[in-house]
Amino acid sequence: MNRVGIGYDVHQLVAGRKLILGGVEIPHPTGLDGHSDADVLLHAICDAVLGALGEPDIGNFFPNTDPRWRNAPSKVFLQEAARQVVFHGGKIINVDATLIAEAPKITPHIQAMKFNVAEALGINPSRIGIKATTNERLGFLGREEGMAAMAVASVDLPENYGQS
Ligand code: MG
Repeated sequence: MNRVGIGYDVHQLVAGRKLILGGVEIPHPTGLDGHSDADVLLHAICDAVLGALGEPDIGNFFPNTDPRWRNAPSKVFLQEAARQVVFHGGKIINVDATLIAEAPKITPHIQAMKFNVAEALGINPSRIGIKATTNERLGFLGREEGMAAMAVASVDLPENYGQS
């Protein structure tokens, strides 16, 4: 059966942090704050994949109180989400994500992001959609106080998935 999941995440922008989006380090005066590398795009994608399985969010698998995940590259979280899919006999059909950020320009990095996501999930980059939009200068996103990302994932699972 085909299932879908949704993911959403927000992180605050602060000085003195690297900006890492979709596993790509992008030169910028501020970076996203968080326990891990705070890759908001990968976190949203991760929750979308887990959501398709009916699983709780990544915080459940990787508690932010655990020092092992301090500054961890978020591709580790994506790999775990993909592992959960395989464990349950499933297959990721596609992922689509939107990053909401006022700056910097994301377009030059999208191909590299797609490649990183595809690699971490173990699927072809043609199955990954990544888009970026500004928030038209409105609200906390518009004031560049943070970045947000949303994602959906479609996962093919055995017909009896979740039934014991
Ligand atoms: Mg997060």
